[in-house]
Amino acid sequence: MIVILKQGVNDQKIQELVSRFEQMGFSCHKSRGEHTTILGIIGDTSRVDIEAVRAIEIVEDVKRVSEPYKTVNRKFHPEDTVISVPAGGRGAAKIGGGHFAVIAGPCSVENEEQIVAIAREVKKSGATMLRGGAFKPRTSPYSFQGLHEEGLKLLKTARKETGLPIVTEIMDLSHLEYFDDIDVIQVGARNMQNFELLKALGHTGKPILLKRGLANTIEEFLMSAEYIMSGGNAQVILCERGIRTFETMTRNTLDISAVPVLKRVSHLPVIVDPSHAAGLPWLIEPLSKASVAAGADGLMIEVHNDPSCALSDGSQSITPAQFDAVMGRIKALVSFEGKKMS
Ligand code: PEP
Ligand code: MN
Repeated sequence: MIVILKQGVNDQKIQELVSRFEQMGFSCHKSRGEHTTILGIIGDTSRVDIEAVRAIEIVEDVKRVSEPYKTVNRKFHPEDTVISVPAGGRGAAKIGGGHFAVIAGPCSVENEEQIVAIAREVKKSGATMLRGGAFKPRTSPYSFQGLHEEGLKLLKTARKETGLPIVTEIMDLSHLEYFDDIDVIQVGARNMQNFELLKALGHTGKPILLKRGLANTIEEFLMSAEYIMSGGNAQVILCERGIRTFETMTRNTLDISAVPVLKRVSHLPVIVDPSHAAGLPWLIEPLSKASVAAGADGLMIEVHNDPSCALSDGSQSITPAQFDAVMGRIKALVSFEGKKMS
């Protein structure tokens, strides 16, 4: 960390600041120019509050030269993290380090017949995990809000029928007790910075699928993953799901460059959700292909057996037949990238 001091600061004030950093366990390198004095703070500064340093009377500016995230940083963990997801204790799907996961299913769990039928279809096409929302974050309070605990129960029925691990979203910390028997807990885009929720998930032993917020930077995204990992839970899957831009032709804008950027700076598996990024079924295939080519470790795709009657996100869902066609093309690309679906 580099601390640039205001002009004309006297030696005593500089020494006081140096001692303050030294007491915090850092060593300080002082560089005195004709007009400006610069302090190089050496040590693990990830715990230093940069705004608090900026607020010190004699400080003109502060710059980080190392990243504020640590546990998610590839520098301290060069090899890819591989996450094993058991399906309620049976078998396991893997993601990361050459294992490519395809998480497919409806936006919302609607009834037993729907979720079990879709689970069977997506499994047949090669999906490795089943998704389905039971607690739904909807823009309107008048829209379908999900089946709640009943939805979680139906997901477990679909898991029993197919052996697929289940992925579902938690919206509130108070619901955590219902997620004991869920294989992967999803944190939705709107909750990416719900820090109390992230902290609590950091104390669970469960894989967490963390979605990037609608208007969050990659660094903020990684800091949210850091919240989970610093609590002791190393099983975090990062999900790029599109960000808000000025564009109106798509629901969001898929930030495809986030994939190689995240893979470069972090060891965590990175997946892409083209459904919420595009908001349009015909874009699922090209965006899925782009994601595999960009180095993603998996995809999350919304599939519905009757999109026109879906209780949420029907207009962006693909049918099982369309999913099967996408999978046919994706499989070839995944193996071309040297990865396997398992
Ligand atoms: C979802 O996966 O159904 C969902 C609500 O996604 P997001 O949080 O990315 O909007
Ligand atoms: Mn959805």
